[in-house]
Amino acid sequence: MTTGAPARVPFLDLLPSYEELAAELDAAARRVLGSGWYVLGPEVEAFERAFADHAGTRHCVGVGSGLDALHLALLALGVGPGDEVLVPSNTYIATWLAVSRAGAVPVPVEPDPVTGNIDPARLEAARTPRTRAVLPVHLYGLPADMAAIGAFAARHGLPVLEDAAQAHGAALHDRRAGALGTAAAWSFYPTKNLGAIGDGGAVTTDDDDLAERLRSLRNYGSRRKYVNDERGFNSRLDELQAALLAVKLAHLDAWNARRATIAGRYLAGLTGVRLPVVPAGAVHAWHVFAVHTPARDDLAGHLARRGVGTLMHYPTPPHLSGAYRDMGLRPGDLPVAERLARETLSLPMGPQLGDADVDRVLEAVAAWDGADG
Ligand SMILES: *Cc1c(COP(=O)(O)O)cnc(C)c1O
Repeated sequence: MTTGAPARVPFLDLLPSYEELAAELDAAARRVLGSGWYVLGPEVEAFERAFADHAGTRHCVGVGSGLDALHLALLALGVGPGDEVLVPSNTYIATWLAVSRAGAVPVPVEPDPVTGNIDPARLEAARTPRTRAVLPVHLYGLPADMAAIGAFAARHGLPVLEDAAQAHGAALHDRRAGALGTAAAWSFYPTKNLGAIGDGGAVTTDDDDLAERLRSLRNYGSRRKYVNDERGFNSRLDELQAALLAVKLAHLDAWNARRATIAGRYLAGLTGVRLPVVPAGAVHAWHVFAVHTPARDDLAGHLARRGVGTLMHYPTPPHLSGAYRDMGLRPGDLPVAERLARETLSLPMGPQLGDADVDRVLEAVAAWDGADG
C-alpha cells in the first residue's frame, strides 16, 4: 500500500502514449510484419507524404535518426572539410556533432538569453570567408527568429538548415517549422513530440535537387539498384517505424494542443522562477517546458524530494564537454550558454500528463522557499 505517500509525477512516461493508441499501433505493426517488405517501401512513402504535408514542404526524406538527418542535409548542402557552420552555443550536442561529422567546424553563436534561441544580431560577427551554412535550433520547440536569420543568410548567399528535432508542429506566422529555411532536420527519437518506437529521422525541403540528393545519400549513394553514383550511407527509415509514425502523426496536433494547455497552466500558476517567453507570431511546440533560476540545483532537489521528476536541458554546453575539449574553449568564453546551462530546469511535460499531475507540480514549486534556499 502506498496510502499517504506523496503521488509521484515522473518527468516523462512514454507508456501512456502507446496505450492511448495501442489498437491502431498494433494493427499498423501487424500490417508491416505480414507484408514481407521492411525497408524503403510503401509505408515510408506514405509517411513521407503525410509528414511533408504537415510541415508544408514539397519533400520529406526519411532517414535513420535526427543526427543522420542533420549530417546528410549538411552534405547535400555542400558542407564539407574546411567549412564553418554557425550553430547555437546552447543546444543538444547532436547539432554540433553533425557539423563535425560532415568534416566542418561548428562555430558557436550565443543565444538571446530570453528566448534561448540563436541571437541573429551575433551572426555577422561570427561569419568568416569559410562560413558555409547557418544551423539554428528551435530549442524546446520555440521557433528561432527565422526572419532575421533568413535575412542574414540571404545577404551572404548561405543556406539555412533548421534543427527541428524539438519542433514538430511549431510554427511562425502560419508557416510550420520545417518550412522556414532551405531544409530542416527532424528526429523521431521516442521522447520527441512525434516519436517512433526506436530511432528515426527525416529531412523536409522544398528543393527538388536537395531531396533527390538525400534519397541517394541515405541509400548507399544509389537511386537505382546497384548503380552507385557517389559514396553514400545506410540511413533509412524502416517500414515499421514509418507505419507507427503515420499513426501518431494523425494525433500530433491534438497532443501539441494538450501540451499548450499544460504550458498555459504552468505559465499562469508558477512563481519564483523565470518562465519561458513566446514571442508574438510564434507557436511553441512545448517539447520542453524549462524554467530558470540561479538556485536551480536547490529547486531540482526540492522537487525530487516531493516526487516531481525534472531534467536539465542541458547541464553542460557542448564547448565545455569532453567531445569539444580540443576547441580550446574554457568556462567564461560563452557566458550566455553557460549561464543558461546552470539555471535551466525542465518540468514534467507531455500530452498524457493529467490535470492532477500539473496541480502537483504547481503545488511542489509553490512550496519551494526560493532562491535563497
Ligand atoms: C534529439 C535531437 C537531435 C538528435 O536526434 P537523434 O534522433 O537522437 O539523433 C538533434 N538536435 C536536437 C536539438 C535534438 O533535440
